[in-house]
Amino acid sequence: MQSDLHKIIVSPQHLSADHVKVFLYQILRGLKYLHSARIIHRDIKPGNLLVNSNCVLKICDFGLARVEEPDESKHMTQEVVTQYYRAPELLMGARHYTQAVDVWSVGCIFGELLGRRILFQAQSPVQQLERITDLLGTPNLEDMKYACEGAVTHMLRRPSKPPALPALYTLSNHATHEAVHLLTQMLAFDPDKRLTVTEALAHPYLDEGRLRYHSCMCSCCASTSCGSRQYTLDFEPTAPHAFDDTWENELVLSLLQLRSMSQVKDRLHKFIMSHLARDRVPLCINPMSAAYKSFASVFMVTFCPQLYSGAPLRAAPLTAPVGLTGRQALGTEDRRGSEEELQGARREAHSGSQQAARL
Ligand SMILES: [Zn+2]
Repeated sequence: MQSDLHKIIVSPQHLSADHVKVFLYQILRGLKYLHSARIIHRDIKPGNLLVNSNCVLKICDFGLARVEEPDESKHMTQEVVTQYYRAPELLMGARHYTQAVDVWSVGCIFGELLGRRILFQAQSPVQQLERITDLLGTPNLEDMKYACEGAVTHMLRRPSKPPALPALYTLSNHATHEAVHLLTQMLAFDPDKRLTVTEALAHPYLDEGRLRYHSCMCSCCASTSCGSRQYTLDFEPTAPHAFDDTWENELVLSLLQLRSMSQVKDRLHKFIMSHLARDRVPLCINPMSAAYKSFASVFMVTFCPQLYSGAPLRAAPLTAPVGLTGRQALGTEDRRGSEEELQGARREAHSGSQQAARL
């Protein structure tokens, strides 16, 4: 892929209404597949949407992705999604959230495509929430049901703001009534009132984007020898089954039992090679990613404290595709049990090194 949506938005290249529609359609089409596999991407932003010269778009960077959590009593990591695209429930400290956080991000990108500027641009999470309420108005208590108590108290202490949704019409000439109607439903403050991806795809605004994509850009339909187009029966397919993260969970647990970086690399390499031939979506571990560096630092503090200098490790040359997300595979995902075990092991290793020093 030659470019990404961020580069295109900030470039001087003209973006027509058709461009916006076909990009938005493809984002939602890809996300529908992910959500049907129970995956929450958790970092949908223009820089993670690759685009080629034919305007074909692909979602990338699954470093923060995870399988959705059906148990509402289980806490989920709150430090997810790049701030400008972070849903209000995350900004307000929700302990549990759903795929609706991805839809919010897409809504922000939709607004950015129309206006050629970031829709909610702020310096801090608190300011981010201010920018959102400047547009949507102060939410009522029902809309803040997933927020933590402190955030609700903070919101109620602020002067009440009226909604300013007509401002969306000023984003560009492409901000038609249909476009603004869809956008406002994707930017609902309450995640329960936000459109799902499937509902968004059913909005009439996307009809032209769907037609354009399947007329000449997709690989699911085909042109016949007599010049007509043979359309697929399912324009927006779903995954055949939910993503199974058992391998990732087992790998994380097995990593905790190992005691050297070379053993971890060896285990990862064997894992990758053993799963290459299986029916998995090939993802990649990026040794330069923040998730990998974070893992490498934690691992060294835990198991090799005498060697740890605080500098990022040189990563193993993992160039092969691998059927797991980097963050999940590397144990920095929401696994409280694993984190506790890590901390226990870290304390153990630290006390061991102290004993060795005394000897
Ligand atoms: Zn098609």
